Formats: sequence, structure tokens, C-alpha cells
Amino acid sequence: MKGSITMKRIYNFSAGPAVLPESVLAEAAAAVREIGDSGMSILEVSHRGKVYDPIHEEASAAILRVLGLDETEYQPLFLGGGASLQFAMVPMNFLADGQTADYVDTGTWAIKAIDDAKLYGQVNIAASSSNKRYSYVPRNLKLTPNARYLHITTNNTIEGTEWPAPPKAVSVPLVADMSSDIFARDLNYSAYDLIYAGAQKNAGPAGVTLVVIRKSFLAQANSGLPAMLSYATHAKGKSLYNTPPVFGVYVVGLVLKWIEEQGGIAAIEARNREKADIIYAALDEFPHMYEPAVTQKSDRSLMNITFRMRNPDLEPLFLDGARERRMEGLKGHRSVGGIRASVYNAFPLEGCYALAEYLGVFAARHA
Ligand code: PMP
Repeated sequence: MKGSITMKRIYNFSAGPAVLPESVLAEAAAAVREIGDSGMSILEVSHRGKVYDPIHEEASAAILRVLGLDETEYQPLFLGGGASLQFAMVPMNFLADGQTADYVDTGTWAIKAIDDAKLYGQVNIAASSSNKRYSYVPRNLKLTPNARYLHITTNNTIEGTEWPAPPKAVSVPLVADMSSDIFARDLNYSAYDLIYAGAQKNAGPAGVTLVVIRKSFLAQANSGLPAMLSYATHAKGKSLYNTPPVFGVYVVGLVLKWIEEQGGIAAIEARNREKADIIYAALDEFPHMYEPAVTQKSDRSLMNITFRMRNPDLEPLFLDGARERRMEGLKGHRSVGGIRASVYNAFPLEGCYALAEYLGVFAARHA
């Protein structure tokens, strides 16, 4: 039996966990009742059995296929602990006393990664955009020769900036937190040696973290770590060293299948550009009312569109009016305030038109 989504859906602008494709929700709902004709719910199957094996293998293969990476070169992993655990695992595995890693400081999540790395070695801040409230992506990097790696945050979920492309002329391994833009853009993913992402924005439900690691980089990892904190353990066990987040992996597999049905990541990017443009254009049309947080247009995130009201007193009114139109999750992150519209891959085009229209109506009413 296939499930169906009969509820009246809101426009969910939440930064994550966030909107997922309806077809994925329907299939996952059906699988919670019974997966295939196994006589079991997906929640009940063993992680070492004939029902789960193909699900795990197919989801692993699909990650590489969608990113355009080769399995001879890269190993995908499904881990727990959120992207936040990766802030620690990366330096634990690749940094040591007396060694330096370069980090680019582009805001809240980058800082958390930096703070954890400092526990394991030297951190050089190769660039920072803190001087202008993280409203742009710094271009001039002061890199350390022979750094163990360079770490960037490709999309800054809270501030609303996004690296337009991987940084150039990097001769050391490149590590990226892609929690909020993995699978959103047709990037040159092979520029990266380690990619990590909490799944709960573009890839699936909370509880599973994706890691994709270049095998030659993995070979350089530190030894002597607790088993669960070592990438080598998980790579060797193909993410089955311990019980993986089975349901999360299953849903990630469904999301990847959906991405491929949409035409892959290039088609997804085209749609994401169209969606983001609709909202940015509406903001730029009413400059007396709205102030986009990111002025450098090339650095504006396709995923998290951040802005403030020129008159902050109007913000609660704006949010109340949005809710009346079934638009939820628009309040900016508590650390920066303002408004944030997160429009991940599965967010519908109509929702972007609905927000753009509302931005116009609100601006006219409060002119
Ligand atoms: N990095 C980025 C860019 C994020 O947006 C988030 C979560 N919003 C995190 C890391 C932390 O992820 P998690 O909650 O999965 O630990």
C-alpha cells in the first residue's frame, strides 16, 4: 500500500528540519507500515539483513552518482551525531599538536567548527567576513603552506551567504560543511576531499549525517582514536560498524531517487535559481521596506534568503500576516533576528511566488 499526503500543507520556510518532497513522505509513510512485502515496518528491520542491505547500498551509490563522484575515489558514509560532531571528527582525524589547519570564518557554524579544531592543533583563520556582519564570502585567503586542510562552510544557513564556487588555487585538502546546500547546486564536488552534511535540510530527516571522503585523504587520517570517532572504522565497515540510522538512510535514498527523477542536480540547481530569484527580486523591488542581509549579489544563498525590515517594529506584523497565508518558519535565527526564508530543494515554486506576492502587498500596505 502506498501512503498519500492528505493534509493541507503549509509553506514551510523552516531552516531545518525542513520541507521534503511529498512523494518521499508518501513512500516513507507506507514503508513505516510495511517495507516491500517483508511483513515488517522499515522501523523493525535488522540493519544486517536482506531487506536493508539493498537500501543501504543503493543510498550509498546514489550519493556518489548524484554528486558526480566515482566510487574508486570516494567513500560515502552515514554517521550519527549531526554535522556538529563533524566539527570535532574532522580535526580529530586530520589535525594534531604542532600542525595547522586553515579555516574560513563565514559565521556561526564556521566558528563552531573553528572552536573544536582549536582543541586538536593550530587554527589559522585564512579569511573572515566578521567585519561586515558576515554579509559576504571573503575571497582573499591567507593560506598556510602545508596546512593539513582548508575548511569552508559552503552555505551559511544563518547569515544567508553561499560560496559561488569552491575557492581557487588550494593545494591542500579541501573540507566543507555542506549541511545546507548539499545536492542544491551543480558544483565541482571533486574539488573536495571531505564533505559533510546533516541530512535534515536537503537530504532527509534529522538523525543521519552524510560524509563523503576521498580515499587518498582518508589514508592520511590519524590513528589511535576511539573506534566510533575514526572515519577509518566507518569506511572499513561501510557505515555498518554499528547500527546506522536505518530509517534516515532509507529516506535519504528516497530523496536521492527523487533528485534523479527531477533530472539530477543540474536541473535542481536551475529550479533553485528560479525560486530564489523570485524572492530576491521582490526584496530588491521594495528597498524602502526590506534590507537584504547579503548585498553582494553573487554571494546570496539560494537556500536561505535573509533580510531585515527597515523598520524592525514591523517584523512581528509581517510574520503574523505570513502565518495567515499559511507561510511558516520565516523568523530569522535567534542570534541575528530579521527574517529568513529557507527554500530547499523540495520547497515548491508556488511558495516562492506566494512569498513574493506577500512582500509586495505588505510593502504597499505599510508604505
Ligand atoms: N552546519 C551548518 C551549515 C548548519 O546549518 C547546521 C545546522 N543548522 C549545522 C552545521 C549543525 O548541524 P546539526 O544540527 O546536524 O549538528
